[in-house]
Amino acid sequence: MGSMTVPTLTLNDGNEIPQLGFGVFLVDPADTERIVADALEIGYRHIDTAAIYGNEEGVGRAIAASGIPRDELFITTKLWNAAQGTQSAYDAIDISLEKLGLDQVDLYLIHWPTPKRDLYVESWKALEQIKADGKTTSIGVSNFLVEYLERLATETDTIPAVNQIELHPYHQRPAETAYGHDHGIVTESWGPLGQGKYPLLELPEVTSAAAAHERTPAQVVLRWHIQQGHVIFPKSNNRARIAENFALFDFELTPDEQAAIGALERAGRVGGDPQEVN
Ligand code: NAD
Repeated sequence: MGSMTVPTLTLNDGNEIPQLGFGVFLVDPADTERIVADALEIGYRHIDTAAIYGNEEGVGRAIAASGIPRDELFITTKLWNAAQGTQSAYDAIDISLEKLGLDQVDLYLIHWPTPKRDLYVESWKALEQIKADGKTTSIGVSNFLVEYLERLATETDTIPAVNQIELHPYHQRPAETAYGHDHGIVTESWGPLGQGKYPLLELPEVTSAAAAHERTPAQVVLRWHIQQGHVIFPKSNNRARIAENFALFDFELTPDEQAAIGALERAGRVGGDPQEVN
């Protein structure tokens, strides 16, 4: 066990998820195989993709070429909004598996609740069946507010294993993380660096910790997520940054540093509003 070993978290269905992965939102399909191959070579074993990213084939080619045993990998993909509902969800997972070249994924998520369509309960029942059919090991949701999680708890039999939500120091999602904590739902932070849309990496709370630990500001923000107990999969096209973002397990923020970053909350969403994406 080297100092760079990625810890795993245990999901509420008993499966294990690596706490750090590599996300491929906005990775060009033409470059995906090469960039995911870089990530796998650096040591990442958890890849977060989605049908709508258009790059599942590239992820699949990189997995196949890597020779890494399937059981050492954790692959997530997501049901796109247009495929919500029961029959279309069954078709969508088959299309994703075909593109990925896999018999099953490790985690299948409802990408957005799309509340105006009002199909997420039906889609969730389809995901329960998709899991029962062995096409995914775990099922979860993304961009779910507490009211939507409560509806799943009332109207279905399965608590999601994860809720993947926009989360970074400017937008910490206290309601969703508390609900997750109380109900055994792991929080995955998407946009862990705020997608570069905020000057998070220039804030003194971040740069002073970076200087103290001889780390980069990005490593400090990512380490903050790890110590909060969140799963993350930062994205970069740049091999040096992909390696930098993997080097999070041989230093630790002090409680004061962790608290100073925690005090940056300002309800600063950079992505879509879960009530309005439909
Ligand atoms: P992110 O916060 O990971 O930001 C990525 C950007 O940060 C990069 O484009 C780069 O400009 C910058 N960056 C990365 N590493 C850096 C470093 N070491 N130093 C300086 N800058 C660096 O945002 P993201 O890609 O949107 O989120 C991560 C992953 O989350 C995605 O790839 C995707 O898998 C997932 N995601 C999910 C949803 C959803 O709705 N479920 C939405 C967005 C993203």
